[in-house]
Order: sequence, then C-alpha cells, then structure tokens
Amino acid sequence: MSMLDEGSGRLLDEHGDYFVEPFYAWRVWRVEQKNVGEGVWWLKSVVFNDRWAPHERQDARCRRSLLRRLLKRQRRHAAPDQSCSCGIYAAESERVRPYLGREEENWAFGRVKLWGRIVECAHGFKAEHCYPERLYVVPRQLDGRRRGREALEIAFSLQDYGVPVEVLSGTSDEIIAAFELLDLELAASAR
Ligand SMILES: [Zn+2]
Repeated sequence: MSMLDEGSGRLLDEHGDYFVEPFYAWRVWRVEQKNVGEGVWWLKSVVFNDRWAPHERQDARCRRSLLRRLLKRQRRHAAPDQSCSCGIYAAESERVRPYLGREEENWAFGRVKLWGRIVECAHGFKAEHCYPERLYVVPRQLDGRRRGREALEIAFSLQDYGVPVEVLSGTSDEIIAAFELLDLELAASAR
C-alpha cells in the first residue's frame, strides 16, 4: 500500500513513512560494451550517462554543486528531492514505449525495483534506490544474422545482472506489440 503526499510529492507507506517495500516501474537504458571488443555489455543511463554495474544498487545522489545550491538558495538535501533533478528515474510503461521504435542503437528496457525515498515528478518517479527486476533487449538494426548474433551476445552478457533477460526482436510493430503484451501480463500478475 502506498500513497502520495501531495505537498512533497513523496510516496509514503500506510504509516506515512518512506516507502520501504519495492515499487515497480520502467526504465530504458542504452546498452554499451564495457570495453570495446570484449563482448561484455553494460547498462548505461540515457540522461546522466552513468554506467550501471551488475549487482550494484543504484543510489541517488545530488549532483548540484555548493555554488549552484547557494545561487538557487537551496539547502543541502537528501536525494531525491522535489526541488532538484536528483534521483534515479523510472516511469510508467507508456513513457518508455517511444524508445521501442528507435533501432539505430541497442537499448534495454526493464522493470525496476524502486525503494527508499520515492518522489513523483514530471517524468514519472525519482527514487533513492533502484535495481533492475527484469530486462528486455531491443537490438539495433543490423543485417539479419549480425543482428541476431549481437542480440544474443548482449542478452548473455546482461545475465550478469542476475535477473531474467529476454530479447525483443522483429519489426518495430512486432517489438511494440510484444512489449504491450508483457506489460499487460506483468500488470495482471501484480493484482
Ligand atoms: Zn539534488
């Protein structure tokens, strides 16, 4: 059970405390080779370019410098905070869907677990702690066999994160349909 504190935008549990139980939402990452040519692929955040190492929980930290905080007359705060851009971002599935049709790069979509301090924001949610719960690879467009081979290499490598990994491939329409189906399945299984 969670509720939203309208004033702070914070997600609270039924006792009015920070949300401790995991809350699930979606994220998109770029997938990049850790070191070119070694076949080890890692998740990389789209906005901040942070690498997400396997088995390492992502923790929010405020990147605003002391000078900027002084200029904005902002106090030091725990991340995430509604007045600042800090926090680990995640969102409802509709917000990640537009990335599914972009096939010029390798992407991974995932349902993530959020916990700790969670704030609702214009882009969805911002959390204190986050880790993937399941991952879906959408491989970039390459000629037939090369695409399949690269997709398998990525999926195999992403298993290091210790969560289920699947490849979504086919045409953009097929990928979108597959994503919508699994989103419905996950929503149904949560009830
Ligand atoms: Zn901040």
